[in-house]
Amino acid sequence: MSRGVERRDQCSLCGRNREQVRRLVFGLYGAICSDCIELCQDIVDEEARSAPDAATKVIGEPKARGYRQLATPVQLVEYLDEHVIGQERAKRTLAVAIYNHYKRLRVHDQRELDSREIQLGKSNILFLGPTGCGKTLLAQTIAEILQVPFAIADATSLTEAGYVGEDVESILSRLYTAAERIDPQDPVAVAERGIVYIDEIDKIARKSENVSITRDVSGEGVQQALLKILEGTIAHLPQGGGRKHPYQETIPLDTRNILFICAGAFDGLSDIVRRRQRGAQIGFRAEAPSAEAGLGDVLPQDLIRFGFLPEFIGRLPVTAVLDGLTHEALVRILVEPKNALLRQYQRLFELDGVELVVEPPVLDEIAAEALRRGTGARALRSILEELLHVPMFEAPSRADLVRVVLTPGALSEGVTPTYVSRELFRDVG
Ligand code: ADP
Repeated sequence: MSRGVERRDQCSLCGRNREQVRRLVFGLYGAICSDCIELCQDIVDEEARSAPDAATKVIGEPKARGYRQLATPVQLVEYLDEHVIGQERAKRTLAVAIYNHYKRLRVHDQRELDSREIQLGKSNILFLGPTGCGKTLLAQTIAEILQVPFAIADATSLTEAGYVGEDVESILSRLYTAAERIDPQDPVAVAERGIVYIDEIDKIARKSENVSITRDVSGEGVQQALLKILEGTIAHLPQGGGRKHPYQETIPLDTRNILFICAGAFDGLSDIVRRRQRGAQIGFRAEAPSAEAGLGDVLPQDLIRFGFLPEFIGRLPVTAVLDGLTHEALVRILVEPKNALLRQYQRLFELDGVELVVEPPVLDEIAAEALRRGTGARALRSILEELLHVPMFEAPSRADLVRVVLTPGALSEGVTPTYVSRELFRDVG
């Protein structure tokens, strides 16, 4: 037996051999057993728990009124960079809005003590950008950084109270549930400082600029209902969630300090912007609008023309535009963020003692296919899922397998993955 084999056949940490452990995972310089892996994971987890990341330290306690020190907009962007690729403009806009929002809350808390303090208005945010470019991810990440409760709703499922579908208050019930997980002692106070994300907001625009005589259940009515909670009201949530009914006990929730982020793709809005710019040219010898003139130049009147009530748009004073993802951004999304998709799949394989290697040209093939599908980064997961379907099926039952390699052509030509088995690995080693 060669020296190399002796060393690899026992755990380098506890010294037990293959027969004494459930599984040995091999590396370049030795092996580690499944028990030691679990132990190391516990140590790492424990350290992470006792040393929260910088963001948590800066922002302060996850309590309703415990923000000792706010992260600056620059720090917030740095944290966002760890999770979200690109979208620099939107990150800055969001960071400033968040910073001002929570600063305003601090002043608000102090104001209860000092009546001379001026009233600072709330700035809810509107995200404009194509599907799968990171709108939800940005909002979710910022809520995680701030350790405030976060609820997502889909505007298309909302209806005015009394109609079939979810009523607007159900969003707040979701936020309340998230707050209960953060602080079961005082969920109302925590929820009142949370973030609500309303997706597909563009779908509740009036379809035409002419106001219809019949009530527009899915559009204007929902805007009216949302308007109330956006500007601040005391909502009454049914105990235990669900729909309200008479005589049921309710939980009062003040929405004045809840931050609302509304988001949508706004197809057709860039045409409205262009038309306005062309119209402006008739009166003034303005610069010709570029063919690309798009969402970056959007003004409130464009959103009103798109089908929103002026009061509704007035409640969303901060606008952040997100760009469609490029090929390069899609490749980076696969490998760079903390929870990058490829890392997630590599971890899944690792749990079976198998190393997953995806050669760089394959990343390009995946990004190209995602661009073709036109759903932004959303396509990446399903493409990876399709590519790895066979190895994910086979690997767990192949005890000899140490490595799966996706080589060029894996996606474009259907080249099958290369399996490296332990025997081969030994020969090579
Ligand atoms: P949408 O813009 O439609 O809200 P999401 O934020 O839900 O898109 O993105 C869907 C998924 O795609 C995310 O969970 C994330 O994995 C990935 N993703 C999208 N955009 C980015 C980005 N800019 N950086 C990193 N990951 C992204």
